[in-house]
Amino acid sequence: MEFDTISAISTPMGEGAIAIVRLSGDQAIEITDKLFVGVSGKKLENVSSHTIHYGKIIDPTTDEVVEEVMVSVMKAPKTFTRENIVEINCHGGLVSVNRVLQLVLRYGARLAEPGEFTKRAFLNGRIDLSQAEAVMDLIRAKTDRAMNMALGQMEGRLSKLIQKLRQEILEVVAHVEVNIDYPEYDDVEEMSHRMLKEKANYVRDELKKLLQTAGQGKILREGLSTAIIGRPNVGKSSLLNSLVQENKAIVTDIPGTTRDVIEEYVNVRGVPLRLVDTAGIRETEDIVEKIGVERSRKVLKEADLILLVLNYADDLTKEDEQLFEAVKGMDVIVIINKTDLPQKIDMDKVKELSNEHKVITTSLLEEKGVDDLEEAISSMYFQGSIEASDLTYISNSRHIALIGQALDAIEDVLSGIEFGTPIDIIQIDLTRTWELLGEIIGDTVQESLINQLFSQFCLGK
Ligand code: GDP
Ligand code: ZN
Repeated sequence: MEFDTISAISTPMGEGAIAIVRLSGDQAIEITDKLFVGVSGKKLENVSSHTIHYGKIIDPTTDEVVEEVMVSVMKAPKTFTRENIVEINCHGGLVSVNRVLQLVLRYGARLAEPGEFTKRAFLNGRIDLSQAEAVMDLIRAKTDRAMNMALGQMEGRLSKLIQKLRQEILEVVAHVEVNIDYPEYDDVEEMSHRMLKEKANYVRDELKKLLQTAGQGKILREGLSTAIIGRPNVGKSSLLNSLVQENKAIVTDIPGTTRDVIEEYVNVRGVPLRLVDTAGIRETEDIVEKIGVERSRKVLKEADLILLVLNYADDLTKEDEQLFEAVKGMDVIVIINKTDLPQKIDMDKVKELSNEHKVITTSLLEEKGVDDLEEAISSMYFQGSIEASDLTYISNSRHIALIGQALDAIEDVLSGIEFGTPIDIIQIDLTRTWELLGEIIGDTVQESLINQLFSQFCLGK
């Protein structure tokens, strides 16, 4: 495929000692040669691939030195996009980086759209769609585990599994075709039925296994939406602070990481908690009273995990009971705080109200009990199974939906076999399974979806 040459700044905006202007396309080296004067005097056109060159970027119209740079030259096809790539490393901050980019654009490159580098890697066959999506996840990963999951997917783990399943299905479809086209071969027909059932069972089991990882995968990818609730003064802010202090929020320094100001991430033993409405807790002190019952209901409804804080040194109140009522049926951990003070709370009543929820006691003042809380959170969602690194996770909603549909389709195949449905009808469901799985790796997706997916990327990726 032939594309024009694109360029963008591919490092974090603002901070960072080094910023990179990246070019990809046929003209990437030619364009840079118009602007770059290397100390060696060599034109980049003549250097070998995957080498770095020190020199200056000069504005050809004024002969003015714009920036001192290191230029990496990577020639097609062994590059991320499979096109020529040049990376101009600038160290002079945002202003000079922008000047370099402007020059590059003036001399023939086009400003890349968000995700366009990765899109090219996909369109040029360097990576498949699920790998491209993993690049996006990697940029956004909040914990090591989330990052490992994205890396696994980027390396093609999920793709390989999906391809294997599709291959199995394809073999069966081919076999069925033979049966339909040559019905006189009775031997083949019988073989096919047994094989069909065997293969369909295998595909179903694999899809089921994958779907079982979805819950954890999704948590790793998106964070566990967590709300801290409780009456005024029970220790919500203290809890938030101790969680934030002890657990470094974001592990990645991957360029393009954008932070959402309203949300705060903490990493509790590998479980990323997305603390919702943190501002509400920090500033208004009491989520239920100050932001109104309606809104707090909404916050609650969207939360995956509720941390309900009670005061050990106070009687249970009507408000406490209302909170219990509001979180019925949700994932709740009850935290009884201020155990350093004399007890006033009725523990029997707490147990009764807590019902199936886990109860933890803490003294945030004395920094006691936070470990227990963290243990409770991590065992609630992972039970250690996440460490089994041979598991392939699915985390992306699009993948989860497609695998769910593929599973339905293969179940249809199996019940078709059961009820003696004609084989050419069964074949339709088989083909559907194959197609649905293909959408995960981008084999059978329409262009509009692809455009939409890539536009979610950060600029410069
Ligand atoms: P919030 O209104 O629920 O956010 O509660 P805060 O976290 O602001 O805490 C209210 C007060 O209780 C503050 O003065 C805290 O220092 C104090 N506090 C928090 N945790 C404890 C604890 O475990 N023991 C004692 N004695 N005081 C605490
Ligand atoms: Zn507070």
